[in-house]
Amino acid sequence: PGSAVGHSPERPCRSARPLCCTAVAVGASSWKPDACSGGIEARLLMSRLSTYNCARPLGPALLFVKTSQGKEEGRRFYACSACRDRKDCNFFQWEDEKVSETRLAAREEYNRNHQPSFTHRQNVERGGFFKVFSVLFVFKAEWEKHSDHQFLCDISTAQLKSPSQLLYPLENKKTNAQYLFTDRSCQFLLDLIIDLGFRRVLSVGTPRLHELIQSTASQEEDFRVRSLLLDIDFRYSQFYTEDEFCHYNMFNHYFFGGEAAHETCRKFLHQDNGERLIMVTDPPFGGLVEALASSFKKLMAMWKETEKEGPNNQEMPVFWIFPYFFESRILEFFPSFSMMDYQVDYDNHALYKHGKTGRRQSPVRIFTNITPSMIVLPVEEGYRFCAICQRYVSSDNQHCEICNSCTSKDGRRWKHCVLCKKCVKPSWFHCNVCNCCALQTHTCEKADAGCFVCGKAGHKRSACPSLSRARTACQADKKQRQKILKRVKMGICKSSAMKHAIFFRKKVKNKKKKT
Ligand code: SAH
Ligand code: ZN
Ligand code: ZN
Ligand code: ZN
Ligand code: ZN
Repeated sequence: PGSAVGHSPERPCRSARPLCCTAVAVGASSWKPDACSGGIEARLLMSRLSTYNCARPLGPALLFVKTSQGKEEGRRFYACSACRDRKDCNFFQWEDEKVSETRLAAREEYNRNHQPSFTHRQNVERGGFFKVFSVLFVFKAEWEKHSDHQFLCDISTAQLKSPSQLLYPLENKKTNAQYLFTDRSCQFLLDLIIDLGFRRVLSVGTPRLHELIQSTASQEEDFRVRSLLLDIDFRYSQFYTEDEFCHYNMFNHYFFGGEAAHETCRKFLHQDNGERLIMVTDPPFGGLVEALASSFKKLMAMWKETEKEGPNNQEMPVFWIFPYFFESRILEFFPSFSMMDYQVDYDNHALYKHGKTGRRQSPVRIFTNITPSMIVLPVEEGYRFCAICQRYVSSDNQHCEICNSCTSKDGRRWKHCVLCKKCVKPSWFHCNVCNCCALQTHTCEKADAGCFVCGKAGHKRSACPSLSRARTACQADKKQRQKILKRVKMGICKSSAMKHAIFFRKKVKNKKKKT
């Protein structure tokens, strides 16, 4: 890395996709440091956004610091806020690097040439045209440009009201991770929003929810909910007016439509009339939590500015939809949030579907700053109310007497480990080498600790001089563990956990004797 001028040539539309031609290349999702910076491990420094725009252009680049084994190495660099794949945007620049006039000019020129070919306004007008004829019409010149693409014919009015069904989801994990809600999850969210008394929804990266709101509004006269969609997928500008959709990058809080779009959003947040507002967001899971949190805080601050009634330390209500294993990261930035047990699932995600059990359940949850007891989960799907925890939990989530809480995060029944003093996944067991619970197949090696064999820093177990001895010990460990497992049958009642502990203590002693 080092050169920032050589942006990858914008390829023409990648695959056969209808309606995508002007915009497919604009979308992008999350950013993975190693992909964007040529293998450098890096940490995001949120304190500063760049004055540089990246290549696509997706707004200000973010500042990162190079790290090695978790330690900052000092040299900072800017990289694209949204692209995980260098093929999509290889903007890269050291912070202390001098950028020549020619290079800046080249960059500007590039950005000018890579704006979408139609503005939102033009797309609205073209979209209006589609609506009249109910077929996808492509201008001749455009047709010729994209003659290698599939086109949809005979699009019904109903389909035009559901663009997310019409557009192919941009599934490429590295660029646009578009996972669309199932009708079940989407309807649940909308019903919940209505039951909680909200009448305005700021849909950030939730096009299907936005669409459900829009289409319900057009069908039911007394339906009073309104929605504004903020999304990076510019294809939506062909379906929605500038009051319904803003082209937005949630990794750097960037409105592509400039001040006007910013104002649209501000206005939407302000229009109170007693209609309460909630923000619902479902970012790509590869996203940097820190960058997302910083943008959401800005949206929350925008909402806050609007409050007329005196001092009031309320927060803008939020549903942040994200996998359960990001819980601690999200709570770090939003201590007022808590995680609900409801499993959100997706149409185009083969793995996680509703009704699956065990590890195949969806890991995606709702994080919210609304009081948990207010979030009523569907009893017919097995959720129940825990009177002690004061929240709805999934059917297999048992209230642990020792932790005094319903501890399962993944929907499976968790078990309490007396040694760890907490509940753990059912597939875990207590490892005395690591001094914590882990999968049976784990390799007794903590990433942050030094070598576990000799305890010295600087090398991992696999590179330890006494490696061979350690390996045989470990294999023996594993066999013993399996034997124990059979005996204990995973129930881990208190006494078996104790036996377990005693056994391992003996074993460790034996090992010491041997060496
Ligand atoms: N489940 C949602 C879709 C979530 S997929 C639904 O059904 O409505 C993630 C969404 O975030 C997609 O619509 C995608 O276009 C959008 N997105 C991805 N990266 C983004 C970014 N950097 N800024 C704003 N939106 C983004
Ligand atoms: Zn409980
Ligand atoms: Zn417990
Ligand atoms: Zn344990
Ligand atoms: Zn271990």
